[in-house]
Amino acid sequence: MKFYITTPIYYVNDEPHIGHAYTTIVGDVLARYHRQIGDQVFYLTGTDEHGAKIAESAAKKNMAPQDFCDQNAAKFQEVWQILNISHDQFIRTTDQRHEDAVVTIFQTLYDRGFLEEREYEGMYCVGCEKFLNTRDLINGQCPDHKRTPEIIKEKNWFFKLEQFLPKIEELVRQDKIEILPPSRQNEVLGLIREGVMKDFSVSRQKSQVSWGIELPFDRDQVSYVWIDALSNYITAIGYPVRQDKFEEWWPADLHLMAQDILKFHTIYWPAILMALDLPLPKTMFIHGFFTINGEKMSKSLGNVIKPQSLVDQFGADAARYLLLSQFPFGQESDIREDVFVERYNADLANGYGNAVARVTNLIEKNKLQIKLNKDMVWLNSLAEEYNSYRFDLVLNKIQSKLQELDGYITKTVPWKVTNTSELITILSNAANELWMVSQALLPFMPNIALQVIDTLEADQIVKAPPLFPRL
Ligand SMILES: [Zn+2]
Repeated sequence: MKFYITTPIYYVNDEPHIGHAYTTIVGDVLARYHRQIGDQVFYLTGTDEHGAKIAESAAKKNMAPQDFCDQNAAKFQEVWQILNISHDQFIRTTDQRHEDAVVTIFQTLYDRGFLEEREYEGMYCVGCEKFLNTRDLINGQCPDHKRTPEIIKEKNWFFKLEQFLPKIEELVRQDKIEILPPSRQNEVLGLIREGVMKDFSVSRQKSQVSWGIELPFDRDQVSYVWIDALSNYITAIGYPVRQDKFEEWWPADLHLMAQDILKFHTIYWPAILMALDLPLPKTMFIHGFFTINGEKMSKSLGNVIKPQSLVDQFGADAARYLLLSQFPFGQESDIREDVFVERYNADLANGYGNAVARVTNLIEKNKLQIKLNKDMVWLNSLAEEYNSYRFDLVLNKIQSKLQELDGYITKTVPWKVTNTSELITILSNAANELWMVSQALLPFMPNIALQVIDTLEADQIVKAPPLFPRL
């Protein structure tokens, strides 16, 4: 089976933070798991690089927008490398191929009559990069950016969304577009029923916003956010020029995202695809925001956790493990730094790390030859947890397996056994269990689990070095 999975493209104005890392690690665990069970996987991530806010940030730094994007996109790529993210492609919306494809997409939508020029007047906040309503303002200012929005009156191109809403409602209700968790499906249906989803502006006047893709049928206008950004999911796999590759991967099996972009993905995106006469993505999974030690994560509070600091403290593999083990994927949750340390010591230093040290030490000391059965069947027992996106439960199951192994070693006391064949039986069983556990941990901890697998598969097993020093 093929499995095409995506993260959102991250806004290049941001520094990579723990929220980006969380979504991207989840995508990576799923990509690695699907490869492990034999699927053909394409894992896509990238950066969203156009818009007034980026041009403004670049100008503040005396940089050309493209140079600014290059510099910040590199920061994301670097962090993904440190975290062992195994994406197949990193798309940037300033890639020439993407820009060319967006031009074709706009032309197609225009030719088919799904775009319409309309007068737009609104209060525009450059910080938010969107028009605000009066009720959004506090003392006449954008509360997020503490600035008075500009009154902008201009002609823009609008995408005629409303005609697609009844069909989208039906498809969402029937799970033809599966939206998970179920509470998010209700949220989407609610948005459609309340009538708040309207035709939306897809372009800006070039005199206002220059950093964007010029529309092929109106040279005074550049693309504005959603068609440019969302279409990365199809342009990355070759749309519209590489039909063979595109048909191999599309539709997406899973779009991952955080809650702030729910309506754009679950409503705008299917409508754009229908307008282009393309199949719709199968599943979208929307996860909640999290707080850090009970507080909302924000720059002003100074509690933004950078992925690098987690890696510095725990190592990349453990950081991945800890982020996914602390709470169920999808829920709004609180990340507690003290729990990270607790679980690191319990699950990794005293659990997995200790089991590996104990078993390999005994095998080396007794100079035993161990033959593994390499039984992958145990992975099947994790399918249900994976298919319901409960990575925390996958890891709990792995921990129970480790506790069983610990109990087995305590009961059989191999360090007191003098009969060699009996000792071989005990330590072979233990090594086989560890090998299985390591296979199950591979999607979460690709480096360390592989290191343990290599140690166990060697002709002569030697004691493994400490994997997780206690904190
Ligand atoms: Zn704002």
